[in-house]
Parts: sequence; C-alpha cells; structure tokens
Amino acid sequence: MDDRSRALDAAHRGAVEFLRTLDERPVWPRASLDDMLGVFGGPLPEEGDDPASVIEQLAAGADPGLVAIPGGRFFGFVIGGTLPAALAADWLVSAWDQNSGSAMLTPTTVALERVAGRWMLELFRLPDSASVGFVTGGQVANFTCLAAARHAVLARAGWDLAERGLRSSPAVRFVVGADRHGSIDRAARFLGVGRAEITVVDADDQGRMLPVALERTLERGEGPLIVCLQAGEVHTGAFDDFAALIPIAHRNGAWVHVDGAFGLWAAASESLRPLTVGMEQADSWATDAHKTLNVPYDCGMAIVRDPADSIAAFRTGGDYLVYSGLDPWDVTPELSRRARGVPAWAALRSLGRSGVATLLDRLHANAVAMAEGLRAIPGVEVINDVDYTQVMLRLGGDEATRALGAAILAEGTAVFTGAEWRGRAALRCSMSSWATTPDDIERTVAAVRALAAA
Ligand SMILES: *Cc1c(COP(=O)(O)O)cnc(C)c1O
Repeated sequence: MDDRSRALDAAHRGAVEFLRTLDERPVWPRASLDDMLGVFGGPLPEEGDDPASVIEQLAAGADPGLVAIPGGRFFGFVIGGTLPAALAADWLVSAWDQNSGSAMLTPTTVALERVAGRWMLELFRLPDSASVGFVTGGQVANFTCLAAARHAVLARAGWDLAERGLRSSPAVRFVVGADRHGSIDRAARFLGVGRAEITVVDADDQGRMLPVALERTLERGEGPLIVCLQAGEVHTGAFDDFAALIPIAHRNGAWVHVDGAFGLWAAASESLRPLTVGMEQADSWATDAHKTLNVPYDCGMAIVRDPADSIAAFRTGGDYLVYSGLDPWDVTPELSRRARGVPAWAALRSLGRSGVATLLDRLHANAVAMAEGLRAIPGVEVINDVDYTQVMLRLGGDEATRALGAAILAEGTAVFTGAEWRGRAALRCSMSSWATTPDDIERTVAAVRALAAA
C-alpha cells in the first residue's frame, strides 16, 4: 500500500475502535487539557515521521481526552451525534479535497450542496427559491443572515452599504428577545452593532418573545429595522409565536430573522410542526445540520428568502473569478471552502423524508421520557415545558443543583451541562443524538437517582 492508503487504513482502525468503545467509556473525558498538552506537546520534532505511524500515535494519544459525544448519553449543551452515512461522507469530502466555492471549479460538491439545500427547504417548508449558504454553524449562519439583512434594510432606506459603508449610514434598529441565543449579540458585534444599540423585548416564562411587548417597542421608533426571533430556546426549547410576531414586525417594515439552530427541524415532523406555524413568513433563517440532523462538525445553513439579498451582501470580486449562477461564495462570507454540505446530503439521503420525521419524533419522545424519569426522582424538579428536545432540571437549591451536575460528570454514565435560568442554577439535558436509546435514558435516570440520593 502507498502512504495514503496506509494512513487512511490507520485512521479507519482508530475511528472504528473509538466508536466501538463509546458505550463503555465515561462520557466526560478523564484527561484534562494539561494532560493532553503533555501527550501532544513539546517542540516540533526536527525530523518527520511515517504518515501511518503519525495517525496511530494520534488515535492512541487522543483517546483519554475525547468526549463520548457520538454515543447515546451525551446530553450537554445542544450537540448532535453523527449518522453513519454523514460520517463516511465527511471522509470522502476530505479525500476529494474539492475547494467548493463555485460550480465552475467543483460541480459535484456544489451540486450536492444545492440538492441538500433544496431538500432542507422542503423539510422546513420554506420558499424553494431561497438561497442556502453552508457555513460552519449556527453562529456564522446568524452572522451571514444578519449581514444580508442589514444590507437589505439599508438599501431600502436608499443607502448602498457596499459603496458608502457604515460610518454615516442611517442607524439600523436591532430588536431581539430577552432570551435570544448569545450568538445573536455576537453576530451583531461582528456587524458593528454595539450592545447599547440592541433593543431587548420581554419574554414569557419559557423564553418566548411577548407580542404585546414587540408591538410597544416597534411603535416607539423608525428607520431601518431588523427583528430577531427564535425557533428553539436553548434552555427550554421554546419557539416564538411566529404567527403573531412576524406580522407585527412586517407592519413596521422590519426584516425578520429566525434563529432556528436546532428548532427549524421541528417543521420536518408532523407532530412537532405546530411549533413552527408562521415561521415561513420570515426573511431569513439560521440553522445547522450538526445538532439535530446529526452530521459531523461543522455544518450550518444561512437561508435567505431572496437570493438577491445574499448576493448583494456577499458576491465577491476578482478578475480571475468566474460566475456560474448562484455559487456558494455568493451567499456566504467564505471564498475557499470545504464542501461541508455533502455530509448533510448523505444524512438526508440515508434517512429520507420519513427518517428525518422519525428522528425528530424520537428526540422529542426521548426528552419526554427523560423528563418523566427525572421528575420521579425525589427532590428533582423539571422546570420547563418539554415541548421539544430540551429538559431543564433542578435539585433543591442552587448549591445542590450544581453539586449534582459535577457529580454526574464525575460518575461518567452521562453528561448534563449547567446553566442559569431566571437567576437560579439549573442543569440542561438536550436530546440531540440519533444514537440515544430507551436503555440510555433508563441508565441515565438510574445514575442521576443514585447521585441525587447521595
Ligand atoms: C447552538 C446555537 C447557536 C450557535 O450555533 P453553533 O453551531 O454553535 O455556531 C445559535 N443559536 C441557537 C439557538 C443555538 O442553539
């Protein structure tokens, strides 16, 4: 075998070995950052090494510091596993090494991303003429959509941002909900919108923006306006009431953006779709494939209703660049880029429409089962409505809740992560992995029960 084949063979062995041990290993890593710096650190060796041997060292050395994220009992943050077809497709993407900015250079990968994008629009019930830009994740999808939004609302106000810049432009009002995801503020910062320039609208106990509060806020101002709504609050999983909110925002001339990193997928399931009613009236939507669709990191999608708005914000110049219609570099901030939409194509192709719906229904059913199991533990309180994939819990006061969180990580059966909700400590349990089984939930509840008693 040549070097490439031997190195790939070593990677295959290492990957299969890691996946085989997922069910047995503690979910939280046993090694610290310093441990791992010790394993891999030191000065850059003067001499190189055999590629296959490098991969063997990598796989063996990495193991103690790896988190069992692709297993069935990682419930931290909002993080998906990896479907088999998506994982294998990701390997092919690396082997092909296609620089996928334009169809002119890489027709196969651009076609696959375009098809994956169309399939997603169908699943999300969004207009099939929208542009879908594959970016690294929800954060960059929010940034990408909001960059297009800002360009568009300024253009409507007679200001050409590409030509005249931001310094003297009309101020853009940037309106968000009290429980928006932090990546919205961060996207605003990247766009030159300061914290003090963001208007925050009150939310209800689950984190949903209050329509009366939005109405009141919008009455009080004028000028270019962007309103950010949310599908899937990161603690509670709650969805804004799009059918009520979007018409209010549009009456006031707003561009409406929906952050639906993991929530947009609810539209793919008949039973969960009611959460998304009215969502299709927005102007842009950010989501990702690495959480709910279970493709490997990283893969996000920036969806913009009118592709002309994406192009206005992102189309690139350069005398050596040839245009072939709607290219990835027309709708994302990237130029050279990985074909990260290909694993999403493979995930969708392997599941089919019914498989995506079944996945969503299972994540929801798992969340409901987890909440039921947790509620039955003496002292444990589930503090959100489990309408989607998120479960939030407390054990007594803040101190006991935090201690339970630390004990869960140390014990190793599962991972929950901590948060603060309405000023109180909480633990979050997110159902995002295709790999979670009823047995995983039983084992997790049993472990939490024992730790809570202790
Ligand atoms: C995870 C998340 C994001 C950020 O997405 P990344 O893929 O981590 O960049 C944005 N919004 C919400 C609601 C999220 O849950």
